Amino acid sequence: MTNPPVIPQLDRPGIVLFDMDNTMMDMSNPFITEACGLAGIDPLPAERHISFYQEQVYPPEHQPMFRTVIDRPGFFLDLEPYPGAVEAYHRASERWLVMFATAQLNSNPTCASDKVASLTRHFGAEAATRIAMTMDKGLLMGDVLVDDKDRIVTRFTPTWTQVVFDQPYNQATPGLRITNWEDGTWEDAIEEAFDAMLSEGRFGPDGWRADGYSQPGRIAS
Ligand SMILES: [Mg+2]
Repeated sequence: MTNPPVIPQLDRPGIVLFDMDNTMMDMSNPFITEACGLAGIDPLPAERHISFYQEQVYPPEHQPMFRTVIDRPGFFLDLEPYPGAVEAYHRASERWLVMFATAQLNSNPTCASDKVASLTRHFGAEAATRIAMTMDKGLLMGDVLVDDKDRIVTRFTPTWTQVVFDQPYNQATPGLRITNWEDGTWEDAIEEAFDAMLSEGRFGPDGWRADGYSQPGRIAS
């Protein structure tokens, strides 16, 4: 029996999942600006956007414009990374196995392909191979999930710990928090999440998960 091929970049014990929309990519600003432009109204100040579903803080008659914008072909390709997000991704990839975890919006016909193209454009071709699309992030295995969602609903028991990416609508969400990708504190927050898991005995002496879910690269069966 020969040894299975080892993929060096996958042989890292820590697995970090990065959400895309409003975590790595600035979605709120173009989304609100474009929708309010169509509605002919002024955007509310950022701190007034206290709902994850941003249209909900606007009068009902203007809410359909938000649907129009988010379903527009190309909308997700037009989004830009937050300042420092690209550098943070590359830095994180030196330390951990990094994946992008994002939802696919079926009502937008180019959402899935635009998200892959956006990763290629901003983070590089290799990053685009690291995308996992799912409506339920509990399906994805990982140690840390950096995500702006205020309340992640899942049908599964997550293997990851959420580190919250700071947004006006998630101020009450408990847990470690990343406020920006520029000043290096994001790395401290992820380290702290790993430290907490280590002290809980969730990693074995070899650095892989004690529950066996993460292991050095091998053939699955
Ligand atoms: Mg998000």
